[in-house]
Amino acid sequence: MAFDLSPRSPSADRAYQMLWDCRFCGTKKLLGVEHRHCPNCGAAQDPQWRYFPSDEDKKEVADPDYVYAGVDRICPFCGQPNSRNANFCKECGGDLSGAQDAAVRAAIEKGSAADTGVAADVVLEKHQAEMARIQGKTGQSAAMPKWLPIALILTLVVCVGLVAAFLFLRNSTYDVQVQVSDVSWERVVAIGQVTTLTGSGWRDSVPPGAYNQSCSPRQREYQVPEQYECGTTRIDRGDGTFIEQPRYCTRMRTESRTDSWCSYSYDQIMHVRDARAGGGPDQPLQWPNLSLGFRETEMNREQKLIVRFTGLGDKANQTYEYVVPNEEESTWRQFRPGQTYSVKFNRLEQAQWDSLSLTN
Ligand SMILES: [Zn+2]
Ligand SMILES: [Zn+2]
Repeated sequence: MAFDLSPRSPSADRAYQMLWDCRFCGTKKLLGVEHRHCPNCGAAQDPQWRYFPSDEDKKEVADPDYVYAGVDRICPFCGQPNSRNANFCKECGGDLSGAQDAAVRAAIEKGSAADTGVAADVVLEKHQAEMARIQGKTGQSAAMPKWLPIALILTLVVCVGLVAAFLFLRNSTYDVQVQVSDVSWERVVAIGQVTTLTGSGWRDSVPPGAYNQSCSPRQREYQVPEQYECGTTRIDRGDGTFIEQPRYCTRMRTESRTDSWCSYSYDQIMHVRDARAGGGPDQPLQWPNLSLGFRETEMNREQKLIVRFTGLGDKANQTYEYVVPNEEESTWRQFRPGQTYSVKFNRLEQAQWDSLSLTN
């Protein structure tokens, strides 16, 4: 999470003081800006000891000249936190050019479980972080048992094997002798019946082709997202101060506007029957006579030019239907009953009709 530290709202302009407890003499609730040393024993403030105060203990930075300069830097010689503006330690005069940034507490939600207003136990936190790190390591190896990689590899090998077997069976072919037993054509007209249905809905959901529409104004509800202030985030700025920024959440608000509510009729066509015509190559190709009944209508026309084969040899008594592609009539008319053909079958027992070739 990134926080914008530049002032945006009046409350973001207000800097409050972090608190710290002296670990040497036990003095509590010292101020992050005003008490750079413990007023009781003189120990230097350690930024790791800083914490967010409760509301009663919250104190604004009183100094009118205070300007936020950035996260403190820790003197590498004496451990004193110094303002980011300083080049030399105000405690020991040491050079701060290689100094490290002071520790910063994680931003928290005001009023959350983390926002206790008391000093965090830094030693305990470090111990817990270390334990979590160690457990994370062992947890990782526990989550992935030793047999799992082997099982994954085996699964992969089986999958690759199945695909290879499928491709082999599909692509490996052998020749089959077949004899033309029948040549025929078939023409089918799908017939549907019109049913009138009624419906109602908002104008923008009326189906195209609807008729007998009657619409009337009606209030229609819709949802709009809205932002609202749902809390405060406290951000440690690392120089003994913190700021509070409003946190925004999104919720949906119901609004309504006038729209049109419509009732309408529409037609639906349901498939009820097929009309068929068919014959041999000597009968002329023609569509069936349609005698359409009440509210019946034509939905679709289809023509099939069919050659039926009987297997020879190993495939004796097996029959196969071949539909000539693209309804090519001239191709279809070349087939005669009694002719024998050779056709390739693959090991999945699928005929490869594009390999048909006449053998007598
Ligand atoms: Zn002290
Ligand atoms: Zn120093």
